[in-house]
Amino acid sequence: MPVFLRVLPYVRRYPLLAFATLFCAVAGTLMVIVFPAVTQRIVDEVIGQHRPERLFPLIAIGLAAFAAQNGLNSLRIVFNNHFEQRVIFDLRSELYAHIQKLPLHWFDNRSTGDIMTRLIEDVTNLERVLIDGIEQGTVAILQILVVSGLMLAYSPWLTAAALAPIPFLAAGALIYTLTARARYRKQRKAVSALNSILHDNIAGIRQIKTYTSEEREHARFDESSDKVRIATLTVMKSWALYQPGMEFLSSLGLLIVAGVGTTQVLGGQLEIGALVAFFVLTRYLYEPVGRLHQLNQIFQSGRAAGERVFEIMDSASEVDEGADHPCKPVCGNVAYRDVSFSYDPKLPVLHEVSLEARAGEMVALVGPTGAGKSTIVNLLVRFYEFTGGEITIDGTPLREIPKHHLRENIAVVTQESFLFNGTTAENLRIGKPAATEEEMWQALRAANAEDFVRRLPKGLHSQLGERGVKLSVGEKQRLSIARALLKNPPILILDEATASVDTATERLIQEALDHLMENRTSFVIAHRLSTVRHANQILVLERGRITERGRH
Ligand code: ADP
Repeated sequence: MPVFLRVLPYVRRYPLLAFATLFCAVAGTLMVIVFPAVTQRIVDEVIGQHRPERLFPLIAIGLAAFAAQNGLNSLRIVFNNHFEQRVIFDLRSELYAHIQKLPLHWFDNRSTGDIMTRLIEDVTNLERVLIDGIEQGTVAILQILVVSGLMLAYSPWLTAAALAPIPFLAAGALIYTLTARARYRKQRKAVSALNSILHDNIAGIRQIKTYTSEEREHARFDESSDKVRIATLTVMKSWALYQPGMEFLSSLGLLIVAGVGTTQVLGGQLEIGALVAFFVLTRYLYEPVGRLHQLNQIFQSGRAAGERVFEIMDSASEVDEGADHPCKPVCGNVAYRDVSFSYDPKLPVLHEVSLEARAGEMVALVGPTGAGKSTIVNLLVRFYEFTGGEITIDGTPLREIPKHHLRENIAVVTQESFLFNGTTAENLRIGKPAATEEEMWQALRAANAEDFVRRLPKGLHSQLGERGVKLSVGEKQRLSIARALLKNPPILILDEATASVDTATERLIQEALDHLMENRTSFVIAHRLSTVRHANQILVLERGRITERGRH
């Protein structure tokens, strides 16, 4: 479906605003009738028939018309902006909602900068097509119709002369339209690539500094920035050719009117006043034509942006076959039977993995990196969909459990404990939105995090910075353990920290983890022998297969 039609439903939600905008636009446009008529009368009656007493009323009429025109215009801008901002808001909100529902493998293949560009810039560009397109397009076409009608009333011959360049203008516009899309696509893509580099580099500024790769990164940034420059210049170059070319053709209309009209006045077929009015009308005719060209430009840019927005909307969201099944309380008996999986069909990652964890048990997964340990646990939260075998929780197949219910019953504590840019309390409440301060302190205490949170300048209400940069690795880890404690689910997934923390910190974290694992089914990706010691089962994983199982 064309991009234009796809945005229409968003616009249709605001019929009143749409009507008010269009009404002001149309009424304002109709005021163009007044001034040519006033001019004609000034020339023919005030000057021609020597009736100076008519001058003032005629000017007053002109003044009223201009005042009304611009008053309506001002209202139109206000309505238009409200209309526009609401549509952008809705479009963005729906796009965001959809992005959240997309499966993880979708994100694996995208850069954050690209997604941000689409959500922020492309949505704005797309919406301009619609609002400006509908409103200004309607106004411009209306003005062309009204003015041509008036011209016809004055003199059909002269009208034909004035309209002579129109077919050429239409041909020019068509050529521009047909070729513009590729140029705009390229430009949107270049902007997106630039945003991606920027996002990546800002997130990795510490690495850039420690590897002293500022110059290399700057060069990479400039290279991408240069692509934006070139793509934008290509867009501008064709506009530089198109727009003045079309202006030139329009001016020919005026010259033709001058030639034909003057000949008619000399031959006595036309009043001078009518000729002067005709000049004014010809200007009024070509001014909206110019606006239509501008609109065409906005339209082409919007179309390229719209394709990018709707590409996201069209990506299939996560499937939840279990959505209609009842949410039964989870005890925590987990079983994998011959589970196979691959991220890329050509490269199988897990081969018929079977394991069983009874409620409250601790299962440790050990083995070399890349063996598939994280992949096994990722399947349990359904970050990725296993391709063969079956996983059950308390005997219920995983796919028959509503996804949100499943995820509510599992806590994941990873190595790089991700903290959001907010306060300690905000980060903890992700685990339990209604948590009271007392509950938060309790969780912090169990996670050995109470002391350092108390030392933060504003305690629970201290800002932690992006990704929690204001905390140490060990502190971040303990906060994320406290968050999982607040969530209090029957199943726990733990990707144990390998980060080199000192032994004192390690002990603090270990204690916190011991509290966290109490009375839960825990899957621990273990890197330290100390964790494995308490495990009910240890599974050794090699190249996607369990090669050994047993106890410490
Ligand atoms: P481990 O946790 O044992 O270190 P992983 O489960 O992370 O191993 O990885 C197993 C294999 O799957 C590796 O070969 C890795 O390259 C691949 N892999 C992991 N995550 C992805 C992903 N998101 N997309 C594609 N391949 C992946």
